[in-house]
Amino acid sequence: MKSAVPRALRNARRIVPRAPSTKSLSSSTLPCLRLGNNHLTNTAIFLSQHRNFSATTRLQDIDEDKDRKWSTPLAKQLAAAIELTGPIPLASFMRMCLTSDIGGYYTGAIEKDRDQFGLKGDFVTSPEISQVFGELIGVWFLTEWLAQGRQTKGVELIEVGPGRGTLMDDVLRVCTAMSSRIDLIANSCQTIQSFPAMANSIDAIYMVEASPELRVAQKNLLCGEDAPMTESKVGYHSVCKYNALPIVWTETIKSIPIAAEKMPFIVAHEFFDALPIHAFELVSVPASKSAPPSSTDNSSPSTKTTTPTLQWREMLVSPTPPGSTHESLNTPATQSRETPPPDFQLTRATSSTRHSLYLPESSARFRALKSTVGPGALLEVCPDASLYASDFAARIGGSPQHPKSKPSGAALILDYGPGDGTIPTNSLRGIRKHRRVSPFAEPGLTDLSVDVDFAGIAESATRASEGVEVHGPIAQGDFLELMGIKQRAEVLAKRASAQKGEEAGRGVEKAWKRLVDRGPGGMGKVYQALAILPENEGRRRPVGFGGDVVQ
Ligand code: SAH
Repeated sequence: MKSAVPRALRNARRIVPRAPSTKSLSSSTLPCLRLGNNHLTNTAIFLSQHRNFSATTRLQDIDEDKDRKWSTPLAKQLAAAIELTGPIPLASFMRMCLTSDIGGYYTGAIEKDRDQFGLKGDFVTSPEISQVFGELIGVWFLTEWLAQGRQTKGVELIEVGPGRGTLMDDVLRVCTAMSSRIDLIANSCQTIQSFPAMANSIDAIYMVEASPELRVAQKNLLCGEDAPMTESKVGYHSVCKYNALPIVWTETIKSIPIAAEKMPFIVAHEFFDALPIHAFELVSVPASKSAPPSSTDNSSPSTKTTTPTLQWREMLVSPTPPGSTHESLNTPATQSRETPPPDFQLTRATSSTRHSLYLPESSARFRALKSTVGPGALLEVCPDASLYASDFAARIGGSPQHPKSKPSGAALILDYGPGDGTIPTNSLRGIRKHRRVSPFAEPGLTDLSVDVDFAGIAESATRASEGVEVHGPIAQGDFLELMGIKQRAEVLAKRASAQKGEEAGRGVEKAWKRLVDRGPGGMGKVYQALAILPENEGRRRPVGFGGDVVQ
């Protein structure tokens, strides 16, 4: 019997139309490309990148407050940089806060033995809540490997942003089982009792990780504490406890070689929400008002106008006035006031920046905001998300630079963000000890997260490669239920009850239900899943997106 696909899911499946005439985003044209931490933490380079932004904050405030106590060493460093350059783009601020090695949240090693994850940390993620999450992603890869012809070599498992390594551990347990069963797949009576292991077809595992500490934690989990790690030009290497597979750690996906015969299976869970965004607001510039862009920008036409024009203005980060308090800054009620007052704030640039001239024009969805919303429209653009989505698509479907005669592999992106194509606005969040805090308080100690623009990811992927199609996004709850979370979790709960008592069984049940819960505290509706697959004119839907297992 075929699985019944709820109507909502049938509608949710979508292949984004191609835009062949639109100029593709390429790494050479995109500003703020992630080059790896070391490239970005050198203050001289940081300053040279941001010298041309117009200042909207009274920079003399900084002069007046030489003795100001900044909440973290990174805050002090950022303030010193802004003093020289003027306010910086939000993306530059986020990048420094998250991955700078002078105190970035993931890379700065600010506190000894710090763990961002779990009850004692700042947040908890789905793989840390229940092992079933990672197992079902492993099952999803298996179903794609089967459906795409059981390639016998050249398979690569790639994870971007692997955290503690838990998800990859759960994936590998499934993918390397010699005779696994995937009769866990819900709604599918086409169960497969056993199949030849995928393990032998796997060439290597790649982990894209910015944090040296997390890289070691991942190595310890996947290879063992005693396993050595060696360094090469590509990255760091060790050998996995599952089937002695080689694992390679890189700082960016660009360091992973691309080859036509490879079949990459890529997973990104809660990774895109940590990529830096640029934020813009649309303003009406009065007639005859001259609004020249920065002095070094020769690309824009004269802006002397006779009728009002709509122009994008970039949101920039500058220090808060000296002596600010949560009260004076009006810290919103949704943010805890238990942090020190924010060191920084967002201000709107008074004239164009090179980002505001280029990024809002980079997609028809963004350009439409001028007519659909008009003055006051807000826009968030994540160039790094486009780069990653384009890279995934090129690996799977081939690209002009890396042609592939037969597209193969798959990418699964799970993250927080709107599933209806809405462009995220005002979505920057600060997270500390499981509470929402100001994203501008205690830079480097506060996790930053934004809503992921899934429609933008789909657009970037289909633009980058003729050889891919996109399915979803669909709500995580729907995806996991179609993947059979209930059946798998019930088996685990029974086993836990039998082995460790009823309390343990109830724990397993509570955990999986949280992953699919569509209520306010749950993760089933606010998290989405999106798949990038080899192009086949939409004839075969992947499992979890309304399709069945193909053997
Ligand atoms: N996927 C994991 C962890 C999510 S947290 C889970 O679900 O539990 C984000 C992860 O992405 C961390 O491992 C962090 O170190 C990594 N990360 C954040 N920004 C990155 C970047 N720009 N490049 C590479 N890794 C990054």
